[in-house]
Amino acid sequence: MEIAAETMLGIDIFQLRAMMVQYKYREVHGMLVNAEPEQFSLMYDPTPCAPEDTVLLFQGDTVLLRENESQSRFPTWRELSESVLIGTPMHAFTQGAQRFFLVDAEVTQAPAGLALAPLNVFRAFPSAQDAIALLTAYHLHRWYKQNRFCGVCGALMRAADSERALFCDQCGAVRYPTISPAVIVAITHQDQLLLARNAHGAFKHYSLIAGYVEAGESLEQAARREIREEVGLRVKNLRYIASQPWGLSQSLMVGFHAELDGDPTITLQESELAEAHWFSRDTLPDHAGPVSIAYTLIDLYRNGQLK
Ligand SMILES: [Zn+2]
Repeated sequence: MEIAAETMLGIDIFQLRAMMVQYKYREVHGMLVNAEPEQFSLMYDPTPCAPEDTVLLFQGDTVLLRENESQSRFPTWRELSESVLIGTPMHAFTQGAQRFFLVDAEVTQAPAGLALAPLNVFRAFPSAQDAIALLTAYHLHRWYKQNRFCGVCGALMRAADSERALFCDQCGAVRYPTISPAVIVAITHQDQLLLARNAHGAFKHYSLIAGYVEAGESLEQAARREIREEVGLRVKNLRYIASQPWGLSQSLMVGFHAELDGDPTITLQESELAEAHWFSRDTLPDHAGPVSIAYTLIDLYRNGQLK
């Protein structure tokens, strides 16, 4: 079963095991997700929300957080329920002993000590675990919002009782959380790394070539296509490094390393990218922060682990 699952993902299990040793997979994984992955449980817990449980309330691209940065930024159900008239919180996931819930409400005036913060606040969190928790909660929040009505018959959906799913009583349709796979690739050439800046969006830092997987593509095919489309390059020795959930775009980011194959001349896809260049280790520009697989891959290059 294990080998079959890996084969389905297009990853050679023996290559993966060798890589886990080579790249100290646990450390890479730990930085991205959780030092103890088994402590992060996405299993749906139908037990009702208790006063001490964490509750996240999103409103557009903002989230209700504690203003005091010296303590946990996440409010409890006690803090919210005493001040805001809101509905029944829905379990999202559990981190260690801390249960996270989502609640849907309009905030006209934030309770004392709390304030709506822009979602990008996660980049300043000292804890990568907290950042991933916030992004995963946002992922689930958007999925619930986008699936209030059945896509088959138009009736209202309701949360299933025993698993994380939405159910239509009228036609029997079931919807599980939508996850869009995306690839991200660190391309190296003669001790240089390719970095690019997006033409659109709020994120203005240099990063790696990335894009969504199309229906019918393997992860490797998607990586090669994105590289060809965005910078007009060919690559060889494409190897899986690590993956990371990225709730900001409801995706799972699958990180690769590849070596340039042939001509290093960049042909920019101007509709997608503002610029792209080859950088050496001592000329690498600043990155947005450690809570991303892009940062992890760039850091592996900086430390001489991608060759
Ligand atoms: Zn239906």
